[in-house]
Amino acid sequence: HGDPRLRGISEAIRVVPDFPKPGIMFQDITTLLLDRKAFKDSVDIFVDRYRDMNISVVAGVEARGFMFGPPIALAIGAKFVPLRKPKKLPGEVISENYVLEYGTDCLEMHVGAVQPGERALVIDDLVATGGTLSAAINLLERVGADVVECACVIGLPKIKEERRLNGKPLYILVEPR
Ligand code: AMP
Repeated sequence: HGDPRLRGISEAIRVVPDFPKPGIMFQDITTLLLDRKAFKDSVDIFVDRYRDMNISVVAGVEARGFMFGPPIALAIGAKFVPLRKPKKLPGEVISENYVLEYGTDCLEMHVGAVQPGERALVIDDLVATGGTLSAAINLLERVGADVVECACVIGLPKIKEERRLNGKPLYILVEPR
């Protein structure tokens, strides 16, 4: 809000109409990653917000949460935990199924990666319905973690106004263009 860096971040995100199917305006953050200033600004804004919140774990949602989560985790002195699509993690996992517009999907987390009482931040590139982030919150809460906030680079205006997801605060940098 009022941060002059947000405009540069928004403009660095490429919008691809009808990808991966007709009617979808795909928000492509790979062009943000190519823009050193916009990429650094987006990480810096998250780091400034979370550095003094006593967060011990940053959980990133596959795949684009893996691009923003690790630099934030390193900068705030937290560990990084990947939340992955089914059958990718080799160890013992817990799974959370969730409903999509068409069909269902699933996220998995390694058992033992997060301890009860840990303070967690969940990160992904974009929140649309919030189904994916809600599944991520559930995984962390099932192992006894305290989800401090969910953070996304891009969020739809409706969900941005609500600013909450499953009772957890939601922090969004920009709206889709
Ligand atoms: P949702 O669970 O409905 O909040 O959808 C969020 C997930 O779907 C995130 O992992 C996004 O990366 C992806 N996603 C949904 N809509 C878009 C979009 N228009 N552009 C890019 N990614 C999207």
